Amino acid sequence: MTDVTLDWCTEQDAHDPLGNYRSRFDIPEGVIYMDGNSLGPLPVGVSEHVASVINNEWRDGLVKSWNDADWINLPERTAAKIAPLIGAAAHEVILADSTSVNLFKTAAAACKLNPGRTQILSEPGNFPTDLYMMEGLASFLGGDYHLDTVAREDITAAITDDTAVVLLTQVHYITADMLDIGAITKAAHNKGALVVWDLSHSTGAVPVDLHAANADMAVGCGYKYLNGGPGAPAFIYVAERHQNVIQQPLSGWFGHKAPFDFVDEYVPSTGIKCMLTGTTGVLAASALNKALDAFAGVDMALVREKSVALTDLFITLTESKLKRFDVGLATPKNSARRGSHVSLIHPNAYAVMQALIERGIIGDFRAPNHLRFGITPLYLGYSDVFQAISALEEVLKSGVWREEKFSEKSAVT
Ligand SMILES: *Cc1c(COP(=O)(O)O)cnc(C)c1O
Repeated sequence: MTDVTLDWCTEQDAHDPLGNYRSRFDIPEGVIYMDGNSLGPLPVGVSEHVASVINNEWRDGLVKSWNDADWINLPERTAAKIAPLIGAAAHEVILADSTSVNLFKTAAAACKLNPGRTQILSEPGNFPTDLYMMEGLASFLGGDYHLDTVAREDITAAITDDTAVVLLTQVHYITADMLDIGAITKAAHNKGALVVWDLSHSTGAVPVDLHAANADMAVGCGYKYLNGGPGAPAFIYVAERHQNVIQQPLSGWFGHKAPFDFVDEYVPSTGIKCMLTGTTGVLAASALNKALDAFAGVDMALVREKSVALTDLFITLTESKLKRFDVGLATPKNSARRGSHVSLIHPNAYAVMQALIERGIIGDFRAPNHLRFGITPLYLGYSDVFQAISALEEVLKSGVWREEKFSEKSAVT
């Protein structure tokens, strides 16, 4: 495939069964957007919907909208659209808080379910907040609780009868290395440990089947592949078998059995709602709820097939066109171990990415030396990948990235 041409790519796009879904997104002209794994783009209809929530439900309906517009059930209604993407039943998923907060709630609940065990197990180089939250949890629980980290390929061997909970991110945020949820969950269960899966880089990107994997709990992000908008609420999955027995530490009134009884004593809600804490951010949840319609009728098996084809193409073109510019590959070549993004390694990754962004190819930089490209099959095609690599080749060949302005770092990378 080393003689791939733009014409060949255009031909693939013409026969792409997912080609029409691009019209579900409002992406600025002239942009090839390869950062949907950091902030998904705006789906069509979301800005009108949020405007109507503001004007009709908030301005006109005022406080009555908690009932009349069913704001009170937004967490369940929105989660019901996420459930099919992760192989869960609707009543096992709820929208709440941020991924960071949900990591704390689920891991704490898992520790409580597994008393007498003191180890929280994760991997070094996990997404920072996952480790930070577990450090905080272990220190807050006190006693012998501690966080250990073991390389992801050695994780199952490291689970012991002291492991309370294993916290893993299925698709690694830098390398895109993808773990087998079923196999690891099974190994953990054999040792009596529970597993919390972070699906932030999986949901909406790769097919996930939590039921088939016999998963315990999971969390995930609303603003990445789900396109819910900056800071969109996150979600929590708790398998039905753990519901009504688990206890989570942030026992706020939205998780109460009867919040509007206003009683002093906390009585947890039955079912998944006990994972709620405080008042739903209605505007943000409404945006995510509407954004999820971009997945309506989408066959995730086709998304996966195209994701593999596009990431394969990206890697093939990298090897044929970019190797001579000191570019390495951080992502597995084996597509079975790869999520839906590709990370390249270059000593001047930050400046190279800024030069690329100036050319309308938007990916991102991840410390210390990664160029990361989200490959989202609903709005990217074969020719987009070809053009991105061509632009990168040109940036590297010309050395334009050496211009001083490309090395100035902003607060957010
Ligand atoms: C994006 C991401 C998060 C984000 O957490 P927030 O609380 O939304 O900031 C957490 N974990 C992983 C693995 C992520 O990729």
